[in-house]
Amino acid sequence: MSRKAIIAANWKMNMTPTEARTFLDAFLPKFPEATGVDIVIAPSFLTMPMAAAQIVPNAAVDISAQNMSAEASGAYTGEVSAAMLKEVGTKYVILGHSERRSLYGEDDAIINKKVLAALENGFSPILCIGETLEEREGGKLEDVLRGQVQGSLAGVSAEQMANVVIAYEPVWAIGTGVTASPEQAQEAHAFVRSLLQEQYDEAVAGATRIQYGGSAKPGNAAELISQADIDGFLVGGASLDPESFAAIIQAGVDAA
Ligand code: PEP
Repeated sequence: MSRKAIIAANWKMNMTPTEARTFLDAFLPKFPEATGVDIVIAPSFLTMPMAAAQIVPNAAVDISAQNMSAEASGAYTGEVSAAMLKEVGTKYVILGHSERRSLYGEDDAIINKKVLAALENGFSPILCIGETLEEREGGKLEDVLRGQVQGSLAGVSAEQMANVVIAYEPVWAIGTGVTASPEQAQEAHAFVRSLLQEQYDEAVAGATRIQYGGSAKPGNAAELISQADIDGFLVGGASLDPESFAAIIQAGVDAA
């Protein structure tokens, strides 16, 4: 089954509104029309409204949040709701990023609530999963991925899975400059796909897009995306430079 690649920039806590404008002024003219891949940019909440004003009118690029509250509204200081994200034209929401898991204590139960809330509000969650080096070296890779997939997707229907993107991000490769080899990444992606087959069916497993994340860059993107089960990238560091993010996208367009 052919799946449309999806390549997303996770800007994390980088890019002020002014810096984002400079980035977008350089980046958006490179992709004035829809390409063969879905392109997504996830700015910080504060940068989102300004970035959305430039991104949303561009047919080739969509905007994503980096997180979202599972609650609809109310006394949740510092949180951002689905309704707020809708108003700025958000299409995707990154959920369960390893930094949210390790630094802010988000577990699969919390992430599951957010995934369900995102789907109910018409967003496409980009659900991040991935093992630490200790877990991989301890032979726990499959158990960790199984727990994250089952826990984060509990109660998500086969129909709703059409809107879910999974990002496999080995924690040891995020922001470290160490990339999973194409073979390591392919093996993990194929395993995640087999989990979707167990939890859903062959159609869902075949249709779900699974991004790779972890020090993706222009120099390794083409080889990674040529793997059978790698359907794009979630890019941190290399997405902060318009030229390098565009080069990673070009690898996806060339492979499409
Ligand atoms: C990420 O944080 O999702 C990520 C993949 O970061 P980097 O590309 O910097 O490893």
